[in-house]
Amino acid sequence: MARYTDSVCKLCRREGQKLFLKGQRCYTDKCAINRRNYAPGQHGQGRHKTSEYGMQLRAKQATRRYYGVLESQFHNYYEMATKMQGKAGENMLSLLETRLDNVIYRLGWANSRAEARQLVVHGHFQVNGHRVDIPSYLVKPGDAISIQEKSRQSEKIKANLEDNASRPAPKWLEKNNENFSGKIIAKPTREEIDLPVDETLIVEFYSK
Ligand code: SF4
Repeated sequence: MARYTDSVCKLCRREGQKLFLKGQRCYTDKCAINRRNYAPGQHGQGRHKTSEYGMQLRAKQATRRYYGVLESQFHNYYEMATKMQGKAGENMLSLLETRLDNVIYRLGWANSRAEARQLVVHGHFQVNGHRVDIPSYLVKPGDAISIQEKSRQSEKIKANLEDNASRPAPKWLEKNNENFSGKIIAKPTREEIDLPVDETLIVEFYSK
């Protein structure tokens, strides 16, 4: 499986926005977007006219990178979203938000989605009392998420809970760090997803 191995900050600079790929550093002045907000490479500071296709491509790439999803998987979310009721773009974002790795990140139990994905794979979490180690597992309203009993003593998880205690969970999630638990209260709405991307451009990109 193809994996991106270069600096993840270059991805943010390419998209011209923070994608929050590097944990705590993303919230500090050391963030590369704060220091060098132009595309990487020799011509990064040049003037570029973006075509309609270019805008659609950038919206798709930014969203895909934000959630850390591979192209084929991302396209599958589009296919699923078009079969659901409502607007395909909003459905797509809602599906991406309800991935278990994203939920773990949103609860503040991991510093980034990449770290959340790794912690999920290592089997640190339960959904409705059952261990789930699939990052793409889709949660639904009413699901209870918890940290495995033995993982509550993990230094990494304890540090994450402490470091991210002040990061509020979105309204569609309930977080209870004292009980090492969380709950999905509702399906996330577009207003509750803080991704500064026009999702209709992604739909246009795929529907050609
Ligand atoms: Fe992106 Fe975080 Fe790097 Fe800033 S620090 S450029 S938000 S990955």
